Amino acid sequence: MLGMTTRRTQVGIVGAGPSGLLLSHLLARQGIDSIVVENRGRDYVEERVRAGVLEQGTIDTLAEAGLGERMMAEGLFHDGIEIRFDGQAHRIDFPSLTGGKRIMVYGQNEVVKDLIDARLEAGGAIVFDVDDTAIEGIDGESPTIRYGKDGAEHAIACDYIAGCDGFHGICRPSISEAALTGYDRVYPFAWLGVLADSRPPSREVAYCHSERGFALLSLRSPTVSRLYIQVAPDEDIANWPDQRFWDELQRRTAVEGAAPIETGPILHKGITPMRSFVAEPMRNGRLFLAGDAAHIVPPTGAKGMNLAVADIRFLTEALAAFYRTGDTAGLDGYSARALRRVWKAQRFSWWMTTMLHLSPDDSPFDRRRQRAELDYVTGSEAAMRTIAENYVGLPFETGLTP
Ligand SMILES: Cc1cc2nc3c(=O)[nH]c(=O)nc-3n(C[C@H](O)[C@H](O)[C@H](O)COP(=O)(O)OP(=O)(O)OC[C@H]3O[C@@H](n4cnc5c(N)ncnc54)[C@H](O)[C@@H]3O)c2cc1C
Repeated sequence: MLGMTTRRTQVGIVGAGPSGLLLSHLLARQGIDSIVVENRGRDYVEERVRAGVLEQGTIDTLAEAGLGERMMAEGLFHDGIEIRFDGQAHRIDFPSLTGGKRIMVYGQNEVVKDLIDARLEAGGAIVFDVDDTAIEGIDGESPTIRYGKDGAEHAIACDYIAGCDGFHGICRPSISEAALTGYDRVYPFAWLGVLADSRPPSREVAYCHSERGFALLSLRSPTVSRLYIQVAPDEDIANWPDQRFWDELQRRTAVEGAAPIETGPILHKGITPMRSFVAEPMRNGRLFLAGDAAHIVPPTGAKGMNLAVADIRFLTEALAAFYRTGDTAGLDGYSARALRRVWKAQRFSWWMTTMLHLSPDDSPFDRRRQRAELDYVTGSEAAMRTIAENYVGLPFETGLTP
């Protein structure tokens, strides 16, 4: 090691995903200083293929924060989703059921690129490629983030630390087991996801229930498709050569009147396990957890990145109020406020997942009930409104502090 440097900031942030970067950006707009440390390189973080559906509240939050220019030019607004089963497609129209709200398809990596550009242009501090990140002193007055970079040791002394380092990060495990309760559900299936250079098979995101298992038709742009099929959780990706994937997708998504799926070069292929997890509370001493560091949802409801954005809105409001007035009420209430929204999103994600997938644990009764549920949610306006209201995102209780 080459020696040790120590810096000071108001809020030290671990992780340069959507949570950490957005927090740093929103805090800067409130005049609050932060430093972000990230253990991956900038290119890796900017190219990581993940979420792609933005709720109305996420679109508004990013636009209000001055991050809307490229998103509004390149993002694709969608007015609904399709649910397919029994060879028929059923559409759920969002604006007519939610008072005009919509969703946008804009890749999470594009959001991340916009955030990194905005932070670096404003002179913000993001330290990429760090190793051995550790946090200490969260019960004291000045917690510290330690990390290594280029053979030297570094420390950042902070007022507060934001743990935005995702599900496999170091912040949540730094909290003693006695101080944290984890609520967990692992599903008996996973998603095989593909990014393909091919014309999207459906104009809108299509959720497809079939006797062969679930499939999802989604997209990233008018020429790039994002496609998923349900597989076993221990599935070996080597069992899925490209042609087998396309054939299976075609079988699971076919409906009356739909043209055969156009295939194309597969740019990325991966298996995502399905899990629901919530850590409570989302605060310990001077450490605040946000985004996937605190909770994950199965991707069926498209809630993961949107929940991260909601946490960051709440945390920014609380920190801004503290630095403006010295009042800690917002910080004290952060966890309870965020968790109210988290659990509603957990409920919706779990419900969509169990309604649409085939589980090896299902009895014949469960299968019949599942079909009745699909019939109900596509036939009742009240049920469709419930899906639409949750999918576009539940309203925020208050606006973002100016
Ligand atoms: C296949 C897939 C599809 C998805 N689809 C959707 C969707 O349609 N809609 C939706 O809203 N959500 C979706 N999600 C979820 C969404 O991607 C996550 O919820 C989102 O990335 C959470 O952001 P985050 O910043 O909290 O965490 P992350 O994006 O996980 O960011 C955490 C960051 O911390 C860094 N880090 C980790 N450990 C350390 C350390 N020790 N030191 C420093 N840095 C560290 C990581 O490298 C990473 O950059 C999907 C996820 C997957 C995997």
